[in-house]
Amino acid sequence: MDRLLEIKNVTKYFGSGDAVSKALNGVSFTMEKGEFTAVMGASGSGKSTLLNVIATIDRPSSGSILLEGRDISEMGEQELASFRRDRLGFIFQEYNLLDTLTVEENIVLPLNLRKCSVRDTQKRLKKVAASLKITEQLFKFPRQLSGGQRQRAACARALITEPALIMADEPTGALDSANSKILMQTFNEMNQYFDSTILMVTHDAVVGSYASRVLFLKDGKIWNELYRGDRTRQVMYHEILNTMAVLGGEADVR
Ligand code: ADP
Ligand code: MG
Repeated sequence: MDRLLEIKNVTKYFGSGDAVSKALNGVSFTMEKGEFTAVMGASGSGKSTLLNVIATIDRPSSGSILLEGRDISEMGEQELASFRRDRLGFIFQEYNLLDTLTVEENIVLPLNLRKCSVRDTQKRLKKVAASLKITEQLFKFPRQLSGGQRQRAACARALITEPALIMADEPTGALDSANSKILMQTFNEMNQYFDSTILMVTHDAVVGSYASRVLFLKDGKIWNELYRGDRTRQVMYHEILNTMAVLGGEADVR
């Protein structure tokens, strides 16, 4: 397997002097291409901070972050911006689809911003739309779609640039359990058909149980990890709950 991401001894401090808080306190892990990893842990354990430093939204205080062998903590602002645009994909809680554009226009937007050729754009659009089963919806507007279809459109938009890494912070945060399930099935499909590498933060054990691996953060450190392996999703769900019970804190289980 190819190593996609290598996080080495990353720390992130906020504030200074007596008021310093260590959001990340020496985090190290690697991700192989095609892995679907969930990051779990109590509120305040550093999940979003971890995602943000990998997403190049925030800079680590120390340590290194290598994506496809390149150290993103050493890139300049301009290089970071193009790296973020070309190699990373984001899925937001609110989908961020633009109401005045059709579903197709929403999905191809990132390619238009990159001045991708019409032919290549159409080729990629066909592929993601077919895989995520939204071909019939392409000429509609977001408001004409069901919640599940909107999520698929948002996923298609994140996929169309073929990013090396797709990141999502609490992607199911605004969804009911039925729609959360649909979104996780879509993540599994992206993972399966596109070999997408996905890093997702969640505090929901059901949502986490769809991942191939779960990292548990506590006080800015990786405290434990679970690999799904051959386990069924239900068994994984129970293992996550057991781990959370031992982990303690205020991890809320829905
Ligand atoms: P989680 O996503 O797991 O709830 P966060 O990564 O948001 O946790 O936060 C980890 C710790 O870092 C918390 O103690 C939080 O208060 C602190 N923190 C996060 N962002 C900032 C910031 N911009 N300024 C100061 N402290 C922050
Ligand atoms: Mg958070």
